[in-house]
Amino acid sequence: MVSRVIPVDPFDLVIFGGTGDLARRKILPGLFRRYCAGQMPEEARIVGAARSALSSEDYRALVAESVREVSGGRACEDGTLDGFLARLDYVRIDARGSDGWEDLAALMRPEMVRAFYFSVGPGLFGDLAERIHLHGMASELARIVVEKPFGHDLASARELNATLAAHFDEGQIYRIDHYLGKETVQNLMAIRFGNMLFEPLWNSQYVDHIQITVAETVGVGGRGEYYDTAGAMRDMVQNHLMQLLCLIAMEPPAKFDPDAVRDEKLKVIRALDPVEPHHIVRGQYLAQDGEHPGYREAVNDPRSRTESYIALKTHVSNWRWAGTPFYLRTGKRLVARSSVINVMFKDAPHSIFGQEAGRHANVLSIRLQPNEGITLQVTIKEPGPGGMRLVDVPLDMTFAEALGPDGEDPPDAYERLIMDVIRGNQTLFMRGDEVEAAWAWTDPIIAGWQSRGEVPKPYDSGSTGPGDADLLMKRDHRAWRGIKP
Ligand code: NAP
Repeated sequence: MVSRVIPVDPFDLVIFGGTGDLARRKILPGLFRRYCAGQMPEEARIVGAARSALSSEDYRALVAESVREVSGGRACEDGTLDGFLARLDYVRIDARGSDGWEDLAALMRPEMVRAFYFSVGPGLFGDLAERIHLHGMASELARIVVEKPFGHDLASARELNATLAAHFDEGQIYRIDHYLGKETVQNLMAIRFGNMLFEPLWNSQYVDHIQITVAETVGVGGRGEYYDTAGAMRDMVQNHLMQLLCLIAMEPPAKFDPDAVRDEKLKVIRALDPVEPHHIVRGQYLAQDGEHPGYREAVNDPRSRTESYIALKTHVSNWRWAGTPFYLRTGKRLVARSSVINVMFKDAPHSIFGQEAGRHANVLSIRLQPNEGITLQVTIKEPGPGGMRLVDVPLDMTFAEALGPDGEDPPDAYERLIMDVIRGNQTLFMRGDEVEAAWAWTDPIIAGWQSRGEVPKPYDSGSTGPGDADLLMKRDHRAWRGIKP
């Protein structure tokens, strides 16, 4: 199936932090792929901005290197990279200073969409918003893209929202959560609201429980200093897992329109029950083989109480989901890299095949990474003679196989989201009130374990996390699905 590429309007895109890790690994290689796909019009221009003393020529060389590294040289052969680089400029700017801003303003073309990507630490968001405004660049066609973390708690998120709101309307603020740009996440909405098959079953009458797992094999790496101030709850649950939960649990919006979708997501967050202390398990990974340091060593604090793993059980208190638990878990240095949502349906109410046929239930697995796709586990007769034995088999749709145009990878989440910014479509971006509601749910949970002085449980690197997370399920006569790559 060949994907349809609809070119966007011409634009000026400024990447603050254009020399940083995110810009070099994700944003710029993603833009290059959109360029190769023919989505970027001739007049589009990208401006990198940071404090480093670089000329535009130096910057193009830096970007060329990053793009080659990420794309493995594949797409750079026939001169396309040169065409892309010709669209790049660089301006030396300090977010907190005054130099460079007039140069940047002079580059902006009137009557053209202009997007400002804040790919810098969150401490600079307010400075950037203020200076963009001050230097006359906050036109009606301007929009800003804000990276996570969006606040550290409810108070700081409110403050940040207020700072940005002083210079931009909510309709101009794009709070990015790259999980929402993933093909499968959007497909989740297509599956739920584009088919008759699932929606009638999508409630507590038919769904036993839901598991959301985001497992990583990497440790904190070079982010140790930041990560130790955040932990898995703030770094992953408050944003990525919460967004996935919303899309699974929300009511059908009246239309696929930014505010209609986000209104429904907000209702889910507001319906989340507080989490009981005994429904939370926190962990910290241990060193492995003398080769990989343990969490405390990695963050350079032998007494750190920050969690690199969390599992919890919560409920969405509304008519649809009353009585259906949602189990969330995420952690670092686990056995495999895997992000998956499992919708676990109830057993059939009565087995006509007798006890020896065993218990069987349908499972809808939505895989976000790696290997994006959807699998429906169905029960069939085991082939062959010898009576009626039942077996569970997967009905599998791997997107790379089913949809990839001639084996090409689908667009990366960042590519899709940046193009949505240019188009002015906020459906896949978090609204300010959503972020605040997510913090309002998260803050008391964190305050709870802090006041109880809880220490995270150690777990082996390469495992599925602390044993207590299995007990959390076992107490409810359930079990986690395996973490598979
Ligand atoms: P990074 O590698 O440290 O890059 C930071 C960038 O900001 C550099 O280009 C730096 O360049 C520039 N910068 C720093 N201070 C500045 C100032 N005062 N004025 C102007 N530019 C300044 O950070 P990153 O990993 O790219 O992360 C950027 C943002 O994305 C952060 O908010 C991070 O939390 C978020 N994020 C990153 C990732 C990721 O995978 N890296 C994933 C999700 C979210 P100069 O030093 O030359 O100024």
